[in-house]
Amino acid sequence: MNQAKLCPLCQEDNKCGLTNNPSAGVCWCFEAGFPKEIFDQLAPDREKVCICENCLVEFKS
Ligand SMILES: [Zn+2]
Repeated sequence: MNQAKLCPLCQEDNKCGLTNNPSAGVCWCFEAGFPKEIFDQLAPDREKVCICENCLVEFKS
């Protein structure tokens, strides 16, 4: 499994548009808007991997 496809918070498929279809050049996350606090939950030395939409929605709620 490609690690870049797994959300660092829940280990589920993050459905990153760029990972799944690089030629498209778009991803849902461009429009979503991530509060910077969500990144505080991640280890500082983590690889740069997308957070999934589920975790973003849960974090905001
Ligand atoms: Zn997630």
